[in-house]
Amino acid sequence: MNIKSKSLLPAIVLLFAAGCFKPASEVRFKAADNPVVAHRGAWKKRGLPENSIASLRTAIELGCAGSEFDVRMTADDSLVINHDPAYNEMSIEKTNYADLVKFPLSNGEKLPTLREYLRAGMSKNQHTLLVCEIKPSETSKERGQLIAEKVWRLVHALKVQSRVVYISFDYDILKKILQLEPGAVTQYLEGNHDPDQLKTDGVRGADYHFSVFHAHPEWIEMARKNKIILNAWTVNEAQEMDWLLRQGFDFITTNEPELALEKNKIKGL
Ligand code: MG
Repeated sequence: MNIKSKSLLPAIVLLFAAGCFKPASEVRFKAADNPVVAHRGAWKKRGLPENSIASLRTAIELGCAGSEFDVRMTADDSLVINHDPAYNEMSIEKTNYADLVKFPLSNGEKLPTLREYLRAGMSKNQHTLLVCEIKPSETSKERGQLIAEKVWRLVHALKVQSRVVYISFDYDILKKILQLEPGAVTQYLEGNHDPDQLKTDGVRGADYHFSVFHAHPEWIEMARKNKIILNAWTVNEAQEMDWLLRQGFDFITTNEPELALEKNKIKGL
């Protein structure tokens, strides 16, 4: 073996070893060991705008298991992060991205695109799932399907799928995601299907308003039996958090992540 081939040997061994392991994107991301999902990021206590990258970063810094955000699509098919159908009194679906982005958020940040938001969620984040709510289109059911597909394609282009959970009020949006990727983690928001139905349809979680679980306490056991993830929104009162923690919910989606983290810590003592 000459000197040149000797020097290549460690590199060849490394390449071979790397081939024995799955790429990071194929290994499911391990979320922090708490049930707290910051609703639209952690914004309230620090006076940040909802759905801002700053609120996502704060949720990551707090160590939340997840940070939720809302995706909408502009008239020229840009995916942006905003809860309401309108931004600065302009309909997002009827306005081009360039016109929307002229108006910054209240902290000076620009209206985030999904690409920017996911990238922020990939940076210095070891434990916070990205809980991606795909808002139904106000224009048509078909446009909702297109939004779902575009979101899914971007998640995969950025190789961030191992840490994304898809949620929606539109069951057909979740079905579209599952058609594209049968193993995707999806959670339904509307609260009108029992966990048996979710299991049948391949939907992995019941992410329902907490009142739904009070109206149907039997769904908690039904979910466990079916290995359906239990998540409740939007839980801001201490008493409600205590009840959900006692029931052993997998996730509690809240505007008060600091309080929920504290409650969870006390419960664990
Ligand atoms: Mg939402």
